[in-house]
Amino acid sequence: MSLRSYLEALAPVLCAAGGGAGAHLLWQTSSLTAAGAVLGAAAGVVLLSPGTSRFEPMGDRDAAPPPVPRVVGLQDLLDTLPDASLLVSADRTIRHANAQAVELFGLPEAAGLPVSTIRVRRLLDQISEAVQEQAASTLEFSITRAGDTHLLGHIRPVGETGDVLIVIADRTLERKSAETHRDFVANASHELKTPLAAVSGIIETLLGHAKNDPAATERFLDLLSKQTERMTRLIQDLLSLNRVELNARVLPDEPVELTGVLSEVVDTLRSIADVWDVELATAMPETPVRALADRDEIGQLFRNLIDNAIKYGGKGSTVEIALKVDVLDGAEIAKISVRDQGPGIEREHLPRLTERFYRINVKHSRETGGTGLGLAICKHIANRHRGRLEVRSQLGEGSQFTLIIPTIVEDILVDSGDT
Ligand code: ADP
Repeated sequence: MSLRSYLEALAPVLCAAGGGAGAHLLWQTSSLTAAGAVLGAAAGVVLLSPGTSRFEPMGDRDAAPPPVPRVVGLQDLLDTLPDASLLVSADRTIRHANAQAVELFGLPEAAGLPVSTIRVRRLLDQISEAVQEQAASTLEFSITRAGDTHLLGHIRPVGETGDVLIVIADRTLERKSAETHRDFVANASHELKTPLAAVSGIIETLLGHAKNDPAATERFLDLLSKQTERMTRLIQDLLSLNRVELNARVLPDEPVELTGVLSEVVDTLRSIADVWDVELATAMPETPVRALADRDEIGQLFRNLIDNAIKYGGKGSTVEIALKVDVLDGAEIAKISVRDQGPGIEREHLPRLTERFYRINVKHSRETGGTGLGLAICKHIANRHRGRLEVRSQLGEGSQFTLIIPTIVEDILVDSGDT
């Protein structure tokens, strides 16, 4: 049985979309090595180690002998694949399963076991079909070991050998991200549809029975302005979220002094706090605290947290805003916390607060000008700054949101006096 048949069965699987990054690496980036492997393998299951050359350099006869060629087996090949892969023989016995396949199906010791051990009925049916009819197929299926896992299996008969090769790609992340995207579009459209419907209703009223009624006209124009403000806020937040997501992988590189940014944000929010009769109390170090940051984004994060604390803290309350420098795992960090005296948040909601459009009380959020996107934006900004957002809350005792980000430790320049 030549390895060529197995490689031929593998090639279309790896080149198919299900091959994953690793497969591309093997078949594209390392196409020369892979081609060498195919040819070498077909010629006698031998792969030349990298760097081995058939041509000796002129005048270098005393050089060390070339490395001994390494024999590559089928198992080696399956073990290098990034996806769960198994080889099943015509008598439905597993010949070899790589580590990913062993883990995926929770197999004890895969080789020699009947393939029925994998207990996925539809996959077993397709393996049987491949054995009996030499039919190649693909199959989408799910298994529920340690959460829902969505998989795409490629089932390929291996030439005339009677064996069947199965390569299974994990599609859970792709499926989740498609679902998230769908939900997001549905939510955003719904959020826009509501004020839009209100606007067209108001316009109809203004053109109809409120036409000659100055008092009603004024009232409806005021409502109109509120609804358009709501749409503007939503669009601004959607654009912010989009911008932060686009830059997610770009590390901020501007040294930003955090106490300055925080003080500026507090000052701009004082007028809103006054309207709510909320006191803003700050505690910050005298010395500057610097971090590599995006100044606008970090300001927006502070604004969202303080704005929420004012809204949810309620009339007559105090919001405490503090910046502290601390050490975490040997590295200096800044902790910026915003603490309110609001009703607090029930434990079950805490893990979901940073999801887009997640709101504990939609009506209250809308009435106070919320879009349900503020904390999602904060989470993305914190991630981009290699930081994290912590929430602590106790019912009846208020909530505390804390941003933790690494600071820049100042380099002390010492003049050596040599020049
Ligand atoms: P919103 O625009 O609705 O305020 P956010 O994304 O800022 O959206 O917050 C999401 C939800 O988290 C809010 O709707 C609210 O239910 C809850 N929340 C945020 N901050 C606080 C807070 N300081 N106290 C109580 N609940 C809060």
